[in-house]
Amino acid sequence: MSKCSLCGNKIQELYLEKLKGTIIRKAGSSKQYPVCFECQKKFPTKTELLAQIK
Ligand SMILES: [Zn+2]
Repeated sequence: MSKCSLCGNKIQELYLEKLKGTIIRKAGSSKQYPVCFECQKKFPTKTELLAQIK
């Protein structure tokens, strides 16, 4: 089960409830970062989301 890269919430449960969430990827990296709907709302652009990932 994937967890949100930002807040640590379990995304699969959010998917079932809301059918929302996303997966982002850093440029030049194949590593994927799942992000839940709540964090997607807080940081609406991919640029902002990527800036939150360490
Ligand atoms: Zn989150």
